Amino acid sequence: MTVTVAAPRSATAAAAAAAPSHTLIAPALIDWHAHGGRHELPWQHDRAPYRVWVSEIMLQQTQVGTVVGYYQRFMQRFPNVTALAAAPLDEVLHLWSGLGYYARARHLHRAAQQIVRDHGGELPLELAQLTRLPGIGRSTAAAILALAHGRRATILDGNVKRVLSRAFGIAGRPGTHATEQALWQCAERCTPSTDVATYTQAIMDLGATVCTRTRPQCALCPLRTTCVAYRSDRVHELPPARPRPARPLRRVVLLLASRADGAVLLQRRPSGGVWASLWTPPQFDSLEEAALFCTTRLRGAQLEREAMPPVAHRFTHFDLEMTPVRAHCTQLVARIAEVDALLWYSLRTPARIGVPAPIAMLLARLVPARVARHRHQLEP
Ligand code: SF4
Repeated sequence: MTVTVAAPRSATAAAAAAAPSHTLIAPALIDWHAHGGRHELPWQHDRAPYRVWVSEIMLQQTQVGTVVGYYQRFMQRFPNVTALAAAPLDEVLHLWSGLGYYARARHLHRAAQQIVRDHGGELPLELAQLTRLPGIGRSTAAAILALAHGRRATILDGNVKRVLSRAFGIAGRPGTHATEQALWQCAERCTPSTDVATYTQAIMDLGATVCTRTRPQCALCPLRTTCVAYRSDRVHELPPARPRPARPLRRVVLLLASRADGAVLLQRRPSGGVWASLWTPPQFDSLEEAALFCTTRLRGAQLEREAMPPVAHRFTHFDLEMTPVRAHCTQLVARIAEVDALLWYSLRTPARIGVPAPIAMLLARLVPARVARHRHQLEP
């Protein structure tokens, strides 16, 4: 296997930037963690496997500061695997609304059901069994084993990849097989046999708080004296940036159909694709299609002539532009059927279902001011 190592800028730098010994990484990080690591996060108080698992899934793609509130609400409602497995998916997605990457919530829910069915309600203790559960990859499984059970298991999440890439000068293209293998090998060699829970937390904390992507604080870093990137002045070159593919733009028309009592029509998204299983106003490719739906399904509900200003949302692989157009149903009961996964959503007493954040913000704009005031008073 070919491993690309960052080339130092000069002979002096080359001498200075020899890769560090793997065995020195854990002691340095464990030492640093006592004063520099994070100790007050809600999932650190009780390291039950279920709690670690939920926190690891929420922390994928999401900053700690955002996760904390979601985590606490989630734990209050679903304190254990059995409670999560027994809950309707809509309620799980409801508590996830605004956190994004909703596949994580669907996988969490499905995995909880498998754990109850196949493992007596306990998360398995073997890496291979954990990685067979939906949404649990090799690094997440290892984090559960290391943090909850103190077992020697190697993690390699995005933050850890960045730390190792810089500390050891691993400069291969991110995402390629060779680079991934080099990083896994490096991570394996750094993982200690003892105090593995502290080490795991420490390397995650270092990546999240010190060796950050854009503003690494090398002056505070316990790996500074041996770090290849620091010593060869390549901190901002490692790891190399991923090539960014062009981002297509998709446009949809969002039909904001409301009833006389103010309820708005929502439709459950298909179980695959973006916002899968969440609820949004019905989406159409054109105004004509939206108008036809009003005529045929909503007893001739009238579309407003003027569309509302478009709402933009950025997904990982594309941009979405939604043009909302309002329609008013004169009949209180329009013909909607369960089979179409449609429901009338009260803005006064919203159902506990999953609504993506941009849609929730759009719906909030439809709430009359007096209702909004009333809801505000009710909320903590
Ligand atoms: S010295 Fe700087 S670049 Fe190297 S691991 Fe520490 S924070 Fe990251």
